[in-house]
Amino acid sequence: MSRVFNFSAGPSMLPLPVLEKAQHQLLNYENTGMSVMEMSHRSSAYMNIIEEAEQLLRTLMNIPQNYKVLFLQGGASLQFSMIPLNLLTTSKKADFIHTGTWSKKAIAEAKKYGNVRVVASSEDKNFSYIPNLTDMTWDDDADYVHITTNNTIEGTRFTSLPDTKSIPLVADMSSNILSEHYDVPKFGLIYAGAQKNIGPAGLTVIIVREDLIGKAGADCPVMLDYSTHVKAQSMYNTPPTYSIYIAKLVFEWLRDLGGVQEIEKQNHEKAKLLYGFIDESALFSSPVAVKDRSLMNIPFTTPSDELNNQFLKEAKVNGLESLKGHRSVGGMRASIYNAMPIEGVQALVDIMKKFEYNNR
Ligand code: PMP
Repeated sequence: MSRVFNFSAGPSMLPLPVLEKAQHQLLNYENTGMSVMEMSHRSSAYMNIIEEAEQLLRTLMNIPQNYKVLFLQGGASLQFSMIPLNLLTTSKKADFIHTGTWSKKAIAEAKKYGNVRVVASSEDKNFSYIPNLTDMTWDDDADYVHITTNNTIEGTRFTSLPDTKSIPLVADMSSNILSEHYDVPKFGLIYAGAQKNIGPAGLTVIIVREDLIGKAGADCPVMLDYSTHVKAQSMYNTPPTYSIYIAKLVFEWLRDLGGVQEIEKQNHEKAKLLYGFIDESALFSSPVAVKDRSLMNIPFTTPSDELNNQFLKEAKVNGLESLKGHRSVGGMRASIYNAMPIEGVQALVDIMKKFEYNNR
């Protein structure tokens, strides 16, 4: 059976050359006589893998030396707890911009540890837009401001960053890390589950400014304290070795392609192709404010559930998988992360055109 175009929101498509390289190295990694999966995380072969993965990510995102990179587990969801445990510790106040299902979870968790203020929310319109950033004000002594740069379920993205002055900006970048350029020094902490633009599930990447490490209380569990993992260079316990190895291959693939600058260009082209068709269509529409549209997750719908279901069936028959929208939004959602080739988006647009013609 041939491979399909997989529009899943995550875990999602990986670049074919990465899978092929992993397949080639599966049984005997660089003459070690074993798979990376079977290798001690303390072996020199594995130490090289994790060090190279970090260096590649540092180069791709231009991460300054005063930021630490951590390869942890527990998903972005564990960061909803780890961030307040480590950062919500001085004034115990944090400001959140509430833009969707994931920020809701981050807010609920942070509330257990301190005084959380929702500075702005787009809940009034089912999170279909990003609140206006210009008139936002922060608690002067807030420990941090939290945003979700790309809202995976609702299909919105911040096209600019809030100016939080000297307050650290913390960002959940799970669904758009490495898809467009970000200036790392603008953030105090960036976190992302790997299973969209980085690699397989099981790995969470954290990029944290040095001065924000070591602020956890004495009762913070050792595994949840960033300083534990910084001191041990992500090897306090067994790291998700194979996921980190695949991430390294993805970083190499992205580097060889021309880095974030090149993939950002491609991501704009892919998104333009799909939004362009939706905007001209008499059958399909997008629920998201045009100015805040995500480049990664594109929800769209027809006027009825019946047509949506029929479309999903036809898409599947044609090798277009996992286009069903999240249950809270309905309709369809095309997740077109870095690894989705433009041919996949073109194939989707072609099927949508045909479907529209047959249902006019
Ligand atoms: N934040 C965002 C923006 C996400 O898209 C997701 C997962 N889809 C999460 C957090 C939760 O991530 P995880 O499943 O890695 O805990």
